[in-house]
Amino acid sequence: MIDIKNLTIKKAHDDMKNGKYSSVDLTKAYLEEVTKKNKDINAYLEVFSDSLEQAKSADERFKSGTDTLLTGIPFAIKDNILIQGRIASSASKILENYHSTYDATVISKLKKEGVVFVGRTNMDEFAMGGSTENSAYGVTKNPYDTERVAGGSSGGSAAAMAMDGALGALGTDTGGSIRQPASFCGLVGLKPTYGAVSRYGAMAMGSSRDQIGPFAKTVTYAEIIFNVIKGNDVKDSTTITESTYSKPVANKRIGIPRAFLKGDGINSDVLKNFEESIQKFKTLGYEILDIELPNIAYSLPVYYVIMPAEVSSNMSRFDGVRFGLHKDGKDGIDDYFETRKAGLGKEVRRRILLGTYVLSSGYYDAYYNRANALRRVITSDFVKAFEKVDIILTPTTPAPAFKIGEKISDPVAMYLEDIFTVTANLTGMPAMSIPSGKSNGLPLGIQMTSTHGGEETLFKAGKDFLGE
Ligand code: GLN
Repeated sequence: MIDIKNLTIKKAHDDMKNGKYSSVDLTKAYLEEVTKKNKDINAYLEVFSDSLEQAKSADERFKSGTDTLLTGIPFAIKDNILIQGRIASSASKILENYHSTYDATVISKLKKEGVVFVGRTNMDEFAMGGSTENSAYGVTKNPYDTERVAGGSSGGSAAAMAMDGALGALGTDTGGSIRQPASFCGLVGLKPTYGAVSRYGAMAMGSSRDQIGPFAKTVTYAEIIFNVIKGNDVKDSTTITESTYSKPVANKRIGIPRAFLKGDGINSDVLKNFEESIQKFKTLGYEILDIELPNIAYSLPVYYVIMPAEVSSNMSRFDGVRFGLHKDGKDGIDDYFETRKAGLGKEVRRRILLGTYVLSSGYYDAYYNRANALRRVITSDFVKAFEKVDIILTPTTPAPAFKIGEKISDPVAMYLEDIFTVTANLTGMPAMSIPSGKSNGLPLGIQMTSTHGGEETLFKAGKDFLGE
């Protein structure tokens, strides 16, 4: 019996290297858990029928000594990241039978390592949401409490990890979609610096903020996955080069934006856990400083103007002609209406409407341009703060995982969930959620943000906090 509950990537690698078990054994162990739990949890939309074949090839690599740290490791992939020949639906009806024609860059990189792809995971449709309730294929339940959400939009990837249905997972994060589900499911979740990881082959939601990143059980293994998937890519002109990364700083200064944590919408257990986490950092030798981020309160409204604007533009490619579903209407124009009405869910349509509105003539200056100007002001506040501190610390979410159905009819309540996470996407800075405790059995997380290219600073502090 493989103790998958307490397994890390490094341990699994060492065990396979030492011949304790093979990747086929390991993959079987995960598939068994998936068979037991996925019906209820709904983390996977599809479990790939060839995963044991993939594991066999991985075992060959161990035999020939061409293995790497990720060889033979079972991975869960969010349904908006393309794997050649397989369905990628973004949990939407419009792409129900869409087969990818090429590999995303991150997938090519994982294939090179000999990773085993277990399946594709549930998500909010086109990554729009914070609970995975906006999936066209049913909600994903939180393995810690099945009456609650696993978070979103990468809820399936987080739940797959938390139910021991995968040892590694990828998600995408445009406003918190890796960090919030990581926090709800007791995992480490990293949103890399904008441009650190190629977006080629990830379905675009908000192109100026989308990033692919890892879910992991420890910081060390989030780092291992990040180091494999990162890097400059000619297929994504926004990717950055190695030289952009800042060296991890020797100073251990953590800034707390106190004024931003005074709102009454924050759960008292979250606040208590946050203060305890600060104390823990102090005992680890970190210096804690109060900082000002005078415009941070505008982050959420700015995000919810810029995001739908980019969404409305990105979604226009789903016209019933080039991809996926097609419905006939009275004429050509009517075809679009019928296709999009049948293929797209309520939240996606809401955001297309909002985005079209803020980009329309007369409103463009009033909304979109002003939001972009404010985005720059918020970013320069952060740049200034990082002259004094190395990390900015907040809770990841204002409360632990909420009940299924609790917020779905109130979009604004759902959007408020993103209060702490959207800023890192607006500024392009890296941010990582790490588990920090529990409230009534539900996981809690804290979020560390660093300056552009400061991933190593996050890894170092995260490892100090968690031990690995
Ligand atoms: N919850 C946020 C939203 O609904 C974030 C989504 C994301 O990061 N993809 O937009």
